[in-house]
Amino acid sequence: MKLSTNSSAFVIAAAAVLCVGVMGCGPGKRSTAAVPQHFTVQTAGYSVENRPIDLYSAGDGPETIFVFATIHGDEQAGIPLTYRLMERLRQRSDLTAGRRILIIPNANPDGVVRNTRGNANGIDLNRNFPAANRENNTTSGYSALSEPESQLLYDLINTHKPIRIISIHQPLKCIDYDGPGESLAHFMAAFSPMPVRKLGARPGSFGSFAGEELGIPVITLEFAREDDLLSPEDLWARYGASLLAAISYPLPPY
Ligand SMILES: [Zn+2]
Repeated sequence: MKLSTNSSAFVIAAAAVLCVGVMGCGPGKRSTAAVPQHFTVQTAGYSVENRPIDLYSAGDGPETIFVFATIHGDEQAGIPLTYRLMERLRQRSDLTAGRRILIIPNANPDGVVRNTRGNANGIDLNRNFPAANRENNTTSGYSALSEPESQLLYDLINTHKPIRIISIHQPLKCIDYDGPGESLAHFMAAFSPMPVRKLGARPGSFGSFAGEELGIPVITLEFAREDDLLSPEDLWARYGASLLAAISYPLPPY
């Protein structure tokens, strides 16, 4: 990744990337990344290998918006981007007023350490949710929510009942949606280089469960594969406005 200097946002994002991408957070250890001001962090749960899954939150509601990245461990561009989002929201208290923003930058820390799609058990977490179209097999798991990482997301949705959800993936270069998310997807596309493209609900996916079955607008941002190589600054320049739009919706983020 490219490096730049003298920015607190850079320090936060770089620390996160170093932790997950180079050194790896050891089991039971929280990321050494600083907590962005105005965001609080708690351990929402643990991975198969006992790595903490950190949940950042800001604002006091009443509307809750949930953003998470890297449920697929080899799709890591969303990690520095979500840290940059938190840093930017520090300057935009207007966007957190009346809202609660929940962010999980790294939903699959064991997969990130391995740079694999699945978790430490080799399960694709994005096929492990209790949707009607779920399939039982070696990569989707032999029962819904068999993995602690997917159970954590399930519990979070039930506890906090977000009004919309953004999930960050790679590499299909589009904005996909599940459930009643079409208008939000087009609104975000107006602030994004990527088009809206309906990919269809995958068996047992988070979008199938939270979007199609629970009726929550779920946006799947599919960045480019090569976005892993972008600096946090360049990631933000490309995708930041669409993330702010997801928070400000239905009003523009300016
Ligand atoms: Zn993915």
